[in-house]
Amino acid sequence: MTAEIIDGKAFAASVRARVAARVADLPRDSIVPGLAVILVGDDPASQVYVRNKRRQTIEAGMRSEEVRLGGDTPEAELLAHIARLNADPTIHGILVQLPLPAQIDTLRVLDAVDPAKDVDGFHVTNVGRLATGQPAMVPCTPLGCLMLLRDRLGSLAGREAVVVGRSNIVGKPMAQLLLRENCTVTVAHSRTADLADVCRRAEILVAAVGRPRLIRGDWIRPGATVMDVGINRVEEDGAARLVGDVDFESAVEVAGAITPVPGGVGPMTIACLLANTLTAYCRLHGLPVAAELAGA
Ligand code: NDP
Repeated sequence: MTAEIIDGKAFAASVRARVAARVADLPRDSIVPGLAVILVGDDPASQVYVRNKRRQTIEAGMRSEEVRLGGDTPEAELLAHIARLNADPTIHGILVQLPLPAQIDTLRVLDAVDPAKDVDGFHVTNVGRLATGQPAMVPCTPLGCLMLLRDRLGSLAGREAVVVGRSNIVGKPMAQLLLRENCTVTVAHSRTADLADVCRRAEILVAAVGRPRLIRGDWIRPGATVMDVGINRVEEDGAARLVGDVDFESAVEVAGAITPVPGGVGPMTIACLLANTLTAYCRLHGLPVAAELAGA
């Protein structure tokens, strides 16, 4: 068997196009959705992400505001910026680029963002809303995986799903979303006994570990749908390249469908950020929310 390669890049473009179409449809005199991104420090990877977010926000017809702060910025100054953006009626989404420098308490900062504008879905209110089945802002990467899974499989109800990784950013919200879709969900982590055996149960396997090619083809159930969230930089044959948490070469022989790295889950994350900004805008303005873009 050779798996279908899921084209996350193309799907992400279609999500961005749907968001842009909805923005273009707003009444002429209304304010456009606005996304503010706060970057503290000069981490090179974060600079690239922020640049891409800005470009795609503008391409979707939205307003982009960028707040760039020095790496030695005190927490109080960052909190003051968040308070200003919380009160700004032209801003509907606020994203604080992680990681933050050591002098700043990340949880305190994430919880300072108005939950209604929390387009990353990291505020404890949104975490609780997702866990209790209420309308929430859903974290972008798991939301992207959910969209790809629904597109390929239709209803996910009754399917056996395994999520490897239990971070607050990917693993846990992914498990919550799959549970909400009525999957039978197992969450595996670094203390899981016999990870290979657990993975072999999965009709849906989500790998969010951060270990290059940890999951091999012989760990995968034949025909499974595999979402490889991992982005790992490795040096091979003297060149740097990106690989996932799944050993693509062996997995592609067994799985029914698989996301490549790069070009799979990665592009979905920014597309879902734009979708979340639109969702936040619609909720704040009492407009109908596009269910398929909100993950509802
Ligand atoms: P974290 O480091 O926060 O979490 C990793 C998880 O994997 C933990 O729960 C850890 O278990 C588990 N784990 C680590 N080693 C093993 C192992 N050998 N066997 C089983 N489980 C293990 O990572 P993130 O969730 O933030 O990210 C995961 C990956 O996804 C990274 O490669 C990251 O770059 C990528 N990523 C990609 C995004 C995208 O846009 N596509 C967005 C976000 C992340 P424990 O809890 O026990 O320590």
